[in-house]
Amino acid sequence: MKVVLIGVGQAGGKVTQSLAEFDYDMGFNAVRGALAVNSAEADLHNLDVDTALIGGDRVNGHGVGGDNELGAQIMEENATEVLENMDGRISTEAEAVVIVAGLGGGTGSGGAPMLARELKRIYEIPVYLLGILPGTDEGGLYQVNAGRSLKTAAREADSLLLVDNDAWRGAGDSVSEGFKRINDAISQRVGLLLAAGEGVDGVGESVVDSSEIINTLRGGGISSVGYASAQASEDPADNVNIITSVTRNALLTNMSLPDAVEAKSALLVIAGDPERLSRKGVERARRWVEDQTGSIEVRGGDFPLASEKIAALVVLSGVEQSGRVNQFMDRASEAAKSQGGTVDPDEFDNDDLDGLI
Ligand code: GDP
Repeated sequence: MKVVLIGVGQAGGKVTQSLAEFDYDMGFNAVRGALAVNSAEADLHNLDVDTALIGGDRVNGHGVGGDNELGAQIMEENATEVLENMDGRISTEAEAVVIVAGLGGGTGSGGAPMLARELKRIYEIPVYLLGILPGTDEGGLYQVNAGRSLKTAAREADSLLLVDNDAWRGAGDSVSEGFKRINDAISQRVGLLLAAGEGVDGVGESVVDSSEIINTLRGGGISSVGYASAQASEDPADNVNIITSVTRNALLTNMSLPDAVEAKSALLVIAGDPERLSRKGVERARRWVEDQTGSIEVRGGDFPLASEKIAALVVLSGVEQSGRVNQFMDRASEAAKSQGGTVDPDEFDNDDLDGLI
């Protein structure tokens, strides 16, 4: 799927850069443009992608602190300028736009859902938002901000692909080591998903393409992605169990939003050397995903890659009623209560998607 990436805020810019690098290093060419937008000038300095400073008249390049309402306002005032930066590439090359942001901060938390709204007013192609949830050990303001941003983002974007900062952090990682590992994990998984159908080695009738991704995400709401791989045998018959076991590992222990298996629709992409893939294994794995998710809408496809490994990439869509999302909303609500600020804790009831803007 050919995409344009727009990172908003610090985490958004870093993850955008890491996605663009992965795509370039792998030679996929799915990323057709990458822009990092921020109200904090210093956070744009170390990035190699195109950058745009917004809100200079308001905050003079110093960022919005944790004020995501200000982040939303600044984006609203500067959306035209941001879109002008991208326009050529969005209208001529892209099949989707992916906005990337940490939901717990200020510029990205408020700005990303606002940008999704503005982009959707102008373009026909889907606008997805890759949103990063704060880990449990992050402060109350992050949780409150993310709770409001999450609800708004799920409403404004065509799909909100959630990554929980607790999902892929290694035990004993410092915060910065943790971010590096998580950002690498995001770029590998989301990068492979975007590349499905682009620049692949070889063609086949079961090869997955952009329309499968778009159709899987069509229902909107919250989505997640997971991945696992294992060494494959040269004989496809020996790989039936490997395909089912990597699929199980991806779905049960490696999703970007853990413990959220029930879904409205899903996509299972099996990547590997076409000579080694077993159709029986792929079909068995797909049926297993149907059973686990309770979804009758599970798409499947291959991603031919010259590799001795076989990998499963799982996308779940419509996971907003999962325990994990409700748990997070409770956390945000508790944090709002203990802060005693202006945010009404009832805003975090999962069933009414209002929120920030
Ligand atoms: P903004 O610049 O105001 O949009 O704020 P940030 O992007 O710094 O958002 C803060 C949130 O993003 C917090 O929940 C952080 O844990 C998270 N965050 C910051 N940097 C990174 C990063 O490099 N990777 C990941 N995964 N999360 C990050």
